Amino acid sequence: MESQMTKGHCYLCGAIVAKSGFLKHFSSRHSGGEEAENQKCVLLKVEDAEDKVYWLYLDMPLTSTLKTLDTFLREIWLECCGHMSAFYQRGGVEIGKSTKLDRIPTGSVLFYEYDFGSTTELRITFLHPVSRPKQRKAVRLLARNLPLLFECGQCGEAADYVCCECDAMEEYPFFCEKCMASHEHEGCALPVVNSPRMGVCAYCGEYDVYEYSDGTEKEG
Ligand SMILES: [Zn+2]
Ligand SMILES: [Zn+2]
Ligand SMILES: [Zn+2]
Ligand SMILES: [Zn+2]
Repeated sequence: MESQMTKGHCYLCGAIVAKSGFLKHFSSRHSGGEEAENQKCVLLKVEDAEDKVYWLYLDMPLTSTLKTLDTFLREIWLECCGHMSAFYQRGGVEIGKSTKLDRIPTGSVLFYEYDFGSTTELRITFLHPVSRPKQRKAVRLLARNLPLLFECGQCGEAADYVCCECDAMEEYPFFCEKCMASHEHEGCALPVVNSPRMGVCAYCGEYDVYEYSDGTEKEG
């Protein structure tokens, strides 16, 4: 499980890379020449604060704000019903969403919370400056962890759902579609998704349009 959890796709070339090996991969394969019209960006690593099994690498222009990052994180990982969110420096001092990324020193770690009730907490590392060809969208997704695999607690097939009732009782919460249909808490099913907010509140991942695709049809 451990090795599966630390691997992901490079979105620039499709290679499967380890989380710890991505920076080397990126600098050896994807650091282009310095073109005059390139955008000056910062390279970010975003992880769930708890287990760090969900992770992203992305770059954003230094002129972007934390608000833009907030919007992206909601799309790919978090948004269920418009909860509040905030960024914090180490030690818990809040840092405003209008803050531009060039105000945040290289090497900084920020924490981010979505939903102050059933909170999902993320950890954002400001790695180093990079430059990229001009593009319209502020956030360029560079890498993302492979979807984690969960087995159905009843039949052992790949799970489709997480039962929040079982989860709340600290019982094994994953079930396939067939077994979920006859499960005693059928109404509490949330989909298995590639997000640290899986199984929380009403999270279904419907705004996540960032699943890796190499352009070919999927099997099955
Ligand atoms: Zn690559
Ligand atoms: Zn919600
Ligand atoms: Zn099953
Ligand atoms: Zn259940």
